[in-house]
Amino acid sequence: MLVHIKQLFPNSGRDVVGKFAYPAFNTQNLETTMGIIQAAEELGVPVIIDVSEGAIKYAGLTTIFEIMATLAIKAKVPVALHMDHGKDVEQIKTGIELGFSSVMIDHSGDDVEKNIKATKELVDFARTEGAWVQGEIGRIRGSEDWINVSDAEALLTNPDDALKFVQATGVDTLACAFGTIHGIIKIRGGATPVVDLPRIKAVYDKVKIPLVLHGASGVDENIIHEAILAGVAIINIDTELRIAFTEALRKSLADQPEEVDPRYVFKPVIEAVKQTAMKKLRQFNTKNVVVSSQ
Ligand SMILES: [Zn+2]
Repeated sequence: MLVHIKQLFPNSGRDVVGKFAYPAFNTQNLETTMGIIQAAEELGVPVIIDVSEGAIKYAGLTTIFEIMATLAIKAKVPVALHMDHGKDVEQIKTGIELGFSSVMIDHSGDDVEKNIKATKELVDFARTEGAWVQGEIGRIRGSEDWINVSDAEALLTNPDDALKFVQATGVDTLACAFGTIHGIIKIRGGATPVVDLPRIKAVYDKVKIPLVLHGASGVDENIIHEAILAGVAIINIDTELRIAFTEALRKSLADQPEEVDPRYVFKPVIEAVKQTAMKKLRQFNTKNVVVSSQ
């Protein structure tokens, strides 16, 4: 069933934060979305599905929303839909009107005052439509779509800035730079992410809203567990699903060189996405979460 993201955080998030985290899986297409939802259904747990501006450019906003929403409505588990790393305010507003219950505005590349102004304007709009807004404070390393932040520029989230940002904007969830890195480099032998666990605790103790960990593909399971205990309640996973998808696709084509029906080519690909998503859903332990009815 399609749910509002707020239904995943009953009791002002107190039933979730410090205990569980929802994976927010990025999708770009039908097959990835199918794999994610099948994983959540098999385990009987709720899930968040994200779409980035890059994926929207690829698939079209309405098209990808309809794919996500149609599969979510039919799903046997609660599914919430989120627009990730929005820079284009008009597009974010269109997404809210379409039915995304959560959107992210990312002005983390600007100074704090500009970031606050842009984020607050979107929060004011989102309130009238009933949507949640995720802001970002601090700068997460790596590259994701239009974002390119070199190591030298990287700025981890300052807990006092985070409090100021949350109070001034009224965001519902907060993406922070805790040392993780966007993209593929860390998995293929590049820079190793060092997660600043005390910083997560310090930020959560100030802001008391669900924290979002971006760039978490490839981060050690024990570190993820510590991050959840410290206050991370949503963990974005993109790269690991992309790798599962493309590696399975290469193998599927090699294994069935005569196959011309995309449905059979994609069958093991959907399964690979599902297995990777199931691994994360198990790690993040949302089995005992109670989802609110409204
Ligand atoms: Zn991100």
